[in-house]
Amino acid sequence: MPVEHPAYGRVREVTPLASVVLENNPGMMTLDGTNTWVLRAPGHDECVVVDPGEADDAHLDVLAEVGPVALTLVTHRHHDHTDGIDGFVERTGASVRAVDPRFHRGGGNSYEPGEVIEVAGLVVTVVPTPGHTADSVSLHVRAAQGDAGAAVVTGDTILGRGTTVLDDTDGDLGDYLSSLRRLIDLGPNIPVLPGHGPDLPDLETIARGYLAHREERLDQVRAALADLGADAPVEAVVEHVYTDVDPKLWPVAEKSVNVQLEYLRR
Ligand SMILES: [Zn+2]
Repeated sequence: MPVEHPAYGRVREVTPLASVVLENNPGMMTLDGTNTWVLRAPGHDECVVVDPGEADDAHLDVLAEVGPVALTLVTHRHHDHTDGIDGFVERTGASVRAVDPRFHRGGGNSYEPGEVIEVAGLVVTVVPTPGHTADSVSLHVRAAQGDAGAAVVTGDTILGRGTTVLDDTDGDLGDYLSSLRRLIDLGPNIPVLPGHGPDLPDLETIARGYLAHREERLDQVRAALADLGADAPVEAVVEHVYTDVDPKLWPVAEKSVNVQLEYLRR
């Protein structure tokens, strides 16, 4: 029997190129925890690790055992993806690349948009997907040789369950909608390796669903503003729109609504 999500404290194989180590940091924003992705080309010893996760020794100790790390990549700046970087580098000596220079280690640098990174028998294309945060990227990974299927590491741009909350400091809905379209354009039947939650079989389908959901929410927020007045406070808009969501989540929804209001008022 293949091991299924969620599986803590072990390396779980997901596709011929990708395994996941799920961090034991479940929560409202992290779902079952942070997924640290381990990408390895068939027949290769070295791997690429994406998002070391939070600074948690148990998690980092499992990651230290995945084998020689050729390179570490970061999908975006949030602490549940990056706080573990130093502990991970201490254990593995890996160099770290990210959009944000704060996370560069061991000579790692920023990505060029659309950059193709060839490392350890893998071809990793950096797809800029801002919106959740300004620095969010997705990583399209395939093997340099052979026909092991491609997959896309989506960070928090697409999650394994539910929807993404756009950060109301540097998230942007216009960017996010464009990013979803960029992911749709990658084509059908590409597995999704998300930052949280279970992996999914088809990026195109899920990205189309996300796009439809965002457009539906935007329509609802437009309708709420028509009812409540164009300058309605965010709390009132959330109460009006998120009737289908547990009120416990309303403070989180406020972030998304702030981002939507900014988009609509611009
Ligand atoms: Zn995030």
